Amino acid sequence: MIKNYLMTPGPTPVPPEVLLSMAKPIIHHRTPQFQKILQEVEENLKYLFQTANNVLIFASSGTGAMEGAVCNLLSPGDKAITVQGGKFGERWTEICKAYGVEAIAIDVEWGKAVDPKVIEKKLSTGAIKAVFTTLCETSTGVATDIKAIAEVVKKTEAVLVVDAISALGAVECKTDEWGIDVVVSGSQKGLMIPPGLAFAAVSPKAWKVIEQNKSPKYYFDFKKSKKSIEKTDTPFTPAISLIIGLNAALKILRQEGLDSVVARHKQMAKAIREAAKALGLELLSPTAASDAVTAIKVAQGIDGGKLVKTMRDEYGVGIAGGQADFKGKIFRIASMGYMNQFDVIIAISCLEIVLSRMGYKFELGAGVKATQKVFLD
Ligand SMILES: *Cc1c(COP(=O)(O)O)cnc(C)c1O
Repeated sequence: MIKNYLMTPGPTPVPPEVLLSMAKPIIHHRTPQFQKILQEVEENLKYLFQTANNVLIFASSGTGAMEGAVCNLLSPGDKAITVQGGKFGERWTEICKAYGVEAIAIDVEWGKAVDPKVIEKKLSTGAIKAVFTTLCETSTGVATDIKAIAEVVKKTEAVLVVDAISALGAVECKTDEWGIDVVVSGSQKGLMIPPGLAFAAVSPKAWKVIEQNKSPKYYFDFKKSKKSIEKTDTPFTPAISLIIGLNAALKILRQEGLDSVVARHKQMAKAIREAAKALGLELLSPTAASDAVTAIKVAQGIDGGKLVKTMRDEYGVGIAGGQADFKGKIFRIASMGYMNQFDVIIAISCLEIVLSRMGYKFELGAGVKATQKVFLD
């Protein structure tokens, strides 16, 4: 019998009580019943995003909110800086191009974080309307110093947009305090619900830019969405079941408390990193590792694709491989959402079994022991 454990950086496991809440018969959305749910969701989203501004909700994958950020903030011909140090940073550039926005891309080596000074320098060339960044670059496991970048962008006319799709509900994201103008996120990572919802928190500075916008848009029109949410309503039929699930998930997060949530992810990620070291494996990003997902280099002579496939298909432990140039060269273990120390121990234990079968030489149990030491601290 195979029992499945999902340790991928999205989708992530969904708590049973969240699943059950979504299994209830559907209700109509223009009712006081649904309005009450939406009101609670909105309040708890503000808590999670650490913002006083409204959080817009869309029925789409996270990329929908990314596209919305681009087409609401930028008009054709505008200039924007994109930071690309991985697959998701590159997505910002691609979306900008699709809307006729001139993307000035800052290329960052995969596994490294952008230096805020490089952004500062590019900003000084002037006429930059927005800076697009990624808090946790899921393809490389790199965490970006958004706080430092915000300090730089704040001093200019440009707005700072942060992709926190894999970061929210896992790592610190102080939207208002740091001065981020738009934070976008999705449902299937740290938020512990299935894929299908996207979010955007928008600052007053960003709303001023949105007022001037000339790009074509309809479903992802932020102004339309804002007008509705101010009346605790939605412009179109919302993904009712997912929002009901979100309500249950946010209550769990709120009960644990953001500080504890962040501390739990820190500890899980540290345990994964220590396990990798104990097994003689190298981290892709030893200097800027995020606490939401850890990218580990595949050892010499080991088939990275086969490693991931064997763990998943023969043992039921789902982790992720590398993307693009890093296909077969790294594997990624998530510490994201509805996961705790025992999920980590299972993943590392399975990794050891499969590595051992593949002929990799190490002391069996060394990785698991390293995780246990972290969890005992
Ligand atoms: C998953 C992810 C996305 C894409 O989200 P979709 O829901 O697949 O559209 C974008 N950015 C980051 C950082 C992600 O982790």
